[in-house]
Parts: sequence; structure tokens; C-alpha cells
Amino acid sequence: MDLSFTPAEETFRAEVRGWLAANVPNPPLPSGDTAEGFRLHLEWERKLFDARYAVVSWPAEFGGRNASLWEWLIFEEEYWLAGAPQRVTQNGIFLLAPTIFEFGTPEQQHLILAKMASGEHSWCQGWSEPNAGSDLAGIGSTAVRDDERGGWRLNGQKTWTTRGAFCTHLFGLFRTDPNAERHAGMTYLLVDLDQPGIIVRGVERLDGDEGFAEVFFDDAFVPDSMVLGGVNKGWNVAMATTGSERGLTLRSPGRFLATAQKLIELAQQLPADASPELHDRVVQAWIDAQAYRWQTFATVTKLVEGGTAGPESSMVKVFWSELDVRLHEIALDLLGPHAELVDGDLAHWLKGYQFSLSGPIYAGTNEIQRNVIGERVLGLPRK
Ligand SMILES: Cc1cc2nc3c(=O)[nH]c(=O)nc-3n(C[C@H](O)[C@H](O)[C@H](O)COP(=O)(O)OP(=O)(O)OC[C@H]3O[C@@H](n4cnc5c(N)ncnc54)[C@H](O)[C@@H]3O)c2cc1C
Repeated sequence: MDLSFTPAEETFRAEVRGWLAANVPNPPLPSGDTAEGFRLHLEWERKLFDARYAVVSWPAEFGGRNASLWEWLIFEEEYWLAGAPQRVTQNGIFLLAPTIFEFGTPEQQHLILAKMASGEHSWCQGWSEPNAGSDLAGIGSTAVRDDERGGWRLNGQKTWTTRGAFCTHLFGLFRTDPNAERHAGMTYLLVDLDQPGIIVRGVERLDGDEGFAEVFFDDAFVPDSMVLGGVNKGWNVAMATTGSERGLTLRSPGRFLATAQKLIELAQQLPADASPELHDRVVQAWIDAQAYRWQTFATVTKLVEGGTAGPESSMVKVFWSELDVRLHEIALDLLGPHAELVDGDLAHWLKGYQFSLSGPIYAGTNEIQRNVIGERVLGLPRK
């Protein structure tokens, strides 16, 4: 087995590293989950797009470089190592876009993808509702046929919509056939949020950021051309999105490799006689981040050979989300009394810790992932 990168891939890595060294904002941008931070992050996204680094693995016609999945992983490693800004476009480019490549019509692809990659349109995920989270098939928001206008009238409410307070568009699941079996009567719709009949209300997060939102629909409209994957076929389309969310694209190893590296640098600042138990935890976390990298290489090998990620992506989701919590817990333990600082160079550890706590919840809770692993990977009985 050859685990090294090719000379062309190493050249690509050097190019990416050079560009990021010259362009990553310093000082870092404010959080992209605040109104001002989101605006600044969109400027950064535009810069990435103009340099054709926003979506390297996409076809050139949509702003990409036709890069292989290996090159995409290299890009991600370099991106996070350089301390580059969070991707406020992530729910579009990493969740919706793979689904549009799979299910979208050529017209939808041309209308949506390049504007998504440049940040001109920003997409949020409208799935969860006050009475439907883990039980996604329990959604109650409806889309009722409007023959006169050639589309669908939306009513209901979505919640926990990440950066929904700032986004221009939403991809959502709506019930289109109330009489069908729960999983059969849903449709995946692509909604323009800037229209009468939609109210977006921000919800403040634990750390004070205000990008989370509730979205209310009161006879809002979606044309037929914005149905993704067919009427009443929404469940299958949504499952493709969750594959991306749990599996490869949302949380690449680069993110955790970079955090592990920063953790080592933090530990090195401590006196040599600091707790050996803490040092062991740092080493173990670094090993875990490396293990995730190698596991991802195995997944990518399977994908490029024509396989699919399958229900194993639930194992990946549990692993990265729990690793993220561990990495940040160790950092706070290393920092001791400094862990509570909310300003200055060290404050990102506390903010990162607060966000890491949500990892076992979003993208499908880890309890649900463990159910999937038990039933679909290990073949255990449902009860
Ligand atoms: C930071 C963050 C960002 C998010 N962003 C978005 C977004 O952009 N768009 C969006 O649509 N949603 C988003 N969500 C919502 C997220 O998808 C839901 O919170 C999640 O699916 C859980 O649903 P719930 O909150 O309704 O909890 P519930 O489904 O009510 O679950 C409550 C508890 O019961 C457990 N549980 C439920 N059913 C089972 C079962 N069958 N077996 C075992 N345990 C079970 C759960 O694991 C959980 O611990 C986000 C959430 C967070 C925290």
C-alpha cells in the first residue's frame, strides 16, 4: 500500500499553503455567527472564490478546479493549519451542493451552484421543527399545491437554523402528502427567504452569537423549478444530504489535526513538570486526530473505487464530534484559571469548547448514530 502523495499533489499542497500564507486575514475575523462577522466572512468567501479555492473539488464551470477528493483533503488540511476563517457557506457547499450534484436538474445546477460558491447566495438547512428533530419524518410544515402559480404554498415553522438569521436561501423538508406514510409524503424544497410570508427570527446562542434562527412560513411560495429530486421523494434526497453531513464533507480531518497541533503548542508552553496525566491526554488526542485522518483515507479510497460511505458514516460522526469535545476539554484543563478568559489570544479555546458541546447533537444526535451503528452496521435487532 502506498500512503504517500504524488508529486502533483505535493505541488498543489505547496500552492495552497503559499496562497493561504499570503491571504488569511490577520488578526482573525470575528465570529461568522454574528451579523458583522458573517458579512466579513462573505468577503473572505468571495476572495476564495476568485482564487478558485472556494470549492476545489467542483467542476470548473461552477468555480472549482476539478480537484480529486485527495486534493480536497490536502486543501482542507492546509486551510485549517493556516488558521483560515470558518466557512460560513458550509451548509451550502458541503451539505446541499453534493445533493444538487446528485439529484438536481442541469437548470438547478446552473442557477444555484456558482452563486452558492461565491457567497452571493448563502444557504441554511431547514429541517428541524419544534416537534421534529431526531424524528425527522415527524415534520409538520406543509407545502400545498398552487396550480395557478405553478408551485407550492408553504406553512409552518423550522427551528435551530444555523446562520438562518443571515442567509438568503433555505433548503427544507415539507410535507406534501399528509395522507401518505410518513416517509413517503415529504418534498425537498429550495426556498428564497426574501419574500412575503417568511419571518426569520434570530435566537441567541450560549456564547452570545446571534446567527441561529427560527423560520416561520405563512403562505410563502416555491416554484416547481425549485423542487429537488421529485415531489414526495424528499426523504431519499434528505438521506443523501445526511450522508455528507455525517460522513466526509462537513468535518474533514484537517480541522481536528489543526486543533491537535494547537493543543501541542499550548502544552509546550507549560512548565516541564506539569501533570504527566495531562500530557498523556494531549498525546492521545493527537493520535486520535491522526487516526481520523487515516480512517478518512480509507473512506476516500473506497469512494474513488466506486463505493459509497454507507451507514459507517454514523461511526465517523460519533468519532469526530467526541474528539472535538476531548480536544477542547484538555485545552481548558491545560489553561487552568486562564480557561475562562473571553478576550485575548486564548479565548478561542473556551468558545471552541462551547461549540464542541453541540457536536454530539447537530448532524443527528450521537444516540441516534449509535442506533444506526447497532442496527445497520452491526446488524443487531431493533429492540
Ligand atoms: C449547533 C446546532 C446547529 C444546528 N443546526 C441546524 C440546522 O442548521 N438546521 C436544522 O434543521 N437543525 C439544526 N440543528 C438541530 C439538530 O438537528 C437537532 O437538535 C437534533 O436533530 C436533535 O433534535 P432535537 O433537538 O429535537 O432533540 P430530540 O430529537 O427531541 O432528542 C432529545 C434527546 O433524546 C434522544 N433521542 C431521541 N430519539 C431517540 C431514539 N430513537 N433513541 C435514542 N435516543 C433518542 C436524543 O439523542 C436527544 O438526546 C442544530 C442543532 C445544534 C445543536
